[in-house]
Amino acid sequence: MTEGRGNPGPWEWRLLEKNCTGCGICADLCEEEALEMPREAAYPKAFPEKCTGCGTCVQECPFEAVELVSRDR
Ligand code: SF4
Ligand code: SF4
Repeated sequence: MTEGRGNPGPWEWRLLEKNCTGCGICADLCEEEALEMPREAAYPKAFPEKCTGCGTCVQECPFEAVELVSRDR
């Protein structure tokens, strides 16, 4: 799990670490800059307050390592 900071958005971004290879594709594709792939990190870092829940990272992650869960449910 990646911890959130600040005011969380409506979507909870969850990383399934066992699937994530740290490829950084999700961070490259996120147009909201809600994901970052730090150079030395094993996993992407999420900024949940910026996430709009567009779903791009979920669809484009080649390893099914991302889940988005609505906080309203
Ligand atoms: S695209 Fe998937 S596997 Fe690659 S860094 Fe993002 S979550 Fe991890
Ligand atoms: S759902 Fe969209 S806005 Fe949120 S982290 Fe993924 S690509 Fe970025």
